[in-house]
Amino acid sequence: MVLAKSPKDYGKYAQIILSCEHASNAIPPEWRKLFAHKRRLLASHRGWDPGALEIMRTLQRRFGCFATAGKASRLLVDLNRTPWNPGFFSEVTRGLADVKRIALMGEYIRYITPVRREVRRIRDKRNFAIHFSIHTFTPVLRGRKRAVDVGLLFDPARPLEVKFARQLAAELRRRRPSLRVRLNAPYRGTSNSFTSLLRGIADPVHVRYKFYSYGGIEIETNQAIVRRGGKTFQAYRKMLADAIATVFDGLEKEADSIVRRRSEKSVSAS
Ligand SMILES: [Zn+2]
Repeated sequence: MVLAKSPKDYGKYAQIILSCEHASNAIPPEWRKLFAHKRRLLASHRGWDPGALEIMRTLQRRFGCFATAGKASRLLVDLNRTPWNPGFFSEVTRGLADVKRIALMGEYIRYITPVRREVRRIRDKRNFAIHFSIHTFTPVLRGRKRAVDVGLLFDPARPLEVKFARQLAAELRRRRPSLRVRLNAPYRGTSNSFTSLLRGIADPVHVRYKFYSYGGIEIETNQAIVRRGGKTFQAYRKMLADAIATVFDGLEKEADSIVRRRSEKSVSAS
């Protein structure tokens, strides 16, 4: 579900893209039979990311940018995994006949295509795409309480992702010192994900040329913040939007020099 079909361009050099792979735990009617006895699983953190869609909507309203959200549970296909990852299909869908799995693949393609198109649109404008993939995580996993409130996941090999994530972490801590902000926790930014897929698609030659047109950061919020609900959750969302805006405005300067370097490179190449 694409929330904003024609985004306004927020920045001069960089544009924000928002996505929310685990927004919903709905099951489309044609697949409901499969989940007849899986209601508890669907309602659990394994079915979806509660609160993630609200976080993304707040950011979307703030930046007026492209935003898209998954319409079905990750137990159908996990939109945050690549099709060649063992976690792409769940325990419920892994054993399905090929024709059904191909149908589910179609759901995946329909989800990623508009995002790829938006990444391309931004690159064709000679702008930098900064993608925030919005997630929430369960506060307790296998009996262990996680000591993280917000996790920013990125690829340590990509300078702009590193810069943005570090600055965003600092900005979040400055605004709310009690917030436990962690980099590449509770997961690693380089593990199989939608952002890791897009890195490879957007900048296939980056290793050789150190050329980047895309940066992907997963923002993982502890569901304990979501559960507090009401004004607390609302204040958190606003604070996150404010912090991103502050860092983004600073990044505009940074992007300026990158755009200049890129155009110098293209001049010397012709
Ligand atoms: Zn998620």
